[in-house]
Amino acid sequence: MACTLEPLLNTELPVESHPLHCPPLDELVGVLSKGLSSAFDFVDVKVVDCPNLTLEPFHLSSEGLSGSPRLIDFGGPPYLLPTVKRDKLYGFSKLGEVCGGIKQSFIIGAGAGPWPYAGTNCEMMANLKLTEDGKINNKTRIAKLLNVEKGEFTLEILPNSESRFALLGNFLLSEGKLGKVLKIHCKKRIGDDNFVTAIRSSLEKHYGSQPVGMGGVFILSQGKAKHHIMPDFSITPLKTEEDLNNWLFFYEMNAPIISVGTLISVDPGLDLRVQHFHSFNLNGEGGHYHYDTTPEIAEYTAYMTPAEFIYRVDKPTDTHNVGRD
Ligand SMILES: [Zn+2]
Repeated sequence: MACTLEPLLNTELPVESHPLHCPPLDELVGVLSKGLSSAFDFVDVKVVDCPNLTLEPFHLSSEGLSGSPRLIDFGGPPYLLPTVKRDKLYGFSKLGEVCGGIKQSFIIGAGAGPWPYAGTNCEMMANLKLTEDGKINNKTRIAKLLNVEKGEFTLEILPNSESRFALLGNFLLSEGKLGKVLKIHCKKRIGDDNFVTAIRSSLEKHYGSQPVGMGGVFILSQGKAKHHIMPDFSITPLKTEEDLNNWLFFYEMNAPIISVGTLISVDPGLDLRVQHFHSFNLNGEGGHYHYDTTPEIAEYTAYMTPAEFIYRVDKPTDTHNVGRD
């Protein structure tokens, strides 16, 4: 299947899709309660009615996560590393059509922001709603570095007229309706894995080679978490994980932190990034989530939905494994 994702860019992109194992929510409660108990001192997983995500503390662009939930994995680190492919610009506006003809769609997740708009490479916290009549309610934020040495950066909300992103993206797309979701509440991290890895590895342990994908939002309500912001594209090729880490700008973001993204227990052969969350707060901070640096007081509350399908768009033909953390 091929599609035109942004009339403006007039690009035909290859799209593959794969059904995901979508267990009942009650079953996931048992699997995650057990799996997360080795990662956190306090674990409470249950099925709840999704709170209105447009309100405090979430600040998302649609009420809920329900209605035809899908994961989408766009492009990938091979378009950033070792050197950037600037022609890898994508658009959100037709994404619902690509993912099975969904008319009204809510998209959240992690990706690289639209560099032509930002004037530089940047982190993107996707958070937008596309209505049936083609209107966009865009609350997507981008974090861009102004001065690496001084650690200066900005966080801004993209206007409704800017619905592009670049290079790579991992998104949850749904109809954005209220419905039943998983609430995952954990306190005091006692394991080495970050919150997302702990969820993902719990699923992998239980479901083995059956891919279970989830997406949603989590709040880290106390403490700090290590994040990065990508600087502008490197002129020097970044060939190794070490080159990449020397290039990235790392800092500790202050809670309360709102993180959006996706995870999948195992890659069903689509060259996926198996987990990816980006965060923002209301104090002008944003970036790519790594892990909390205050495990003693860490408190996470997530609202997640399992997805029915994964769509793989514009999979790199020449791939590598650098930069998937
Ligand atoms: Zn990222």
